[in-house]
Amino acid sequence: MEKLNHVLLVAGTHGNELSGIYLQKLIKERLYSASRTTFTTSCAIGNPEAVQNNSRYLDSDLNRAFSALNQSQDSTGHEQQLAKEWITKHAHKKHQLVIDLHNTTSNMGATLILLATDPFYTKMGAYIKQRMPEANILFEDQKTWQEQPYLCTAGDFGIIIEVGSQAHGSLKFETLELMKKMLSYVLDYVEKQNLNEIEKMSSYEAYFYTEDVRVPLSEDGLRVATVHPMICGRDFEVVKPGEPLLATLFGYDIFWEKDHDIYPHFINESSYCTSHIAMALAEKKIIQSQ
Ligand SMILES: [Zn+2]
Repeated sequence: MEKLNHVLLVAGTHGNELSGIYLQKLIKERLYSASRTTFTTSCAIGNPEAVQNNSRYLDSDLNRAFSALNQSQDSTGHEQQLAKEWITKHAHKKHQLVIDLHNTTSNMGATLILLATDPFYTKMGAYIKQRMPEANILFEDQKTWQEQPYLCTAGDFGIIIEVGSQAHGSLKFETLELMKKMLSYVLDYVEKQNLNEIEKMSSYEAYFYTEDVRVPLSEDGLRVATVHPMICGRDFEVVKPGEPLLATLFGYDIFWEKDHDIYPHFINESSYCTSHIAMALAEKKIIQSQ
């Protein structure tokens, strides 16, 4: 792989997620180092108007606006315009890695979200997992790079760092620490990759996104179930066949009915309120040593 000579560190893609915004502040005040010897690092705010507003977005979710299909449609909202400007400004830069910093209300600890299974990413997962065993490595590789809706996929290379739990619009010490720790290892990895110093990687466990779980609604559009109390706050813990996912208001549960184990995450993420997504599901797989 060719060397990466620039890292673009993005925060405020969702305007009410403060961890990344404050990590950029630490960088500006030289309280955290994001530079290494083989590449330069610069900071950008994804959606400055949403940050100003302390809201996730103004018209629509910027972090769902970057699929090729979305871009071909003629839409005019604030975030659609912003996505077009972003692509003009950043998408054609070669040898650049975009790191998009997010936090979630779900109890996901430090999660590295990787959107493809090329060796650059699987080795990054191994590098992080070896040094930060508490990290979750989550692959969302069901879509091609062009179909991915996320801001970090506008160029050739991109990843998402997601930390939680933290209420939107608030800032917690421990989530900021998790973000700093994971970002440092990612930057170290890029440096070592550039220097051809990445050694053979050992096998590790990673999660692979499979589907969302939506809460059933009644005719008035209100929910008739909640996340089951057994799994509330227990992101990335196993749910076995026959175990409950949701508890209905009528007193019976809704179970996981397929014949393999599943790992819920983004459990009760508050931003998924309007789409009534209760959680996302993933399978656990071993990534073999390379
Ligand atoms: Zn976010």
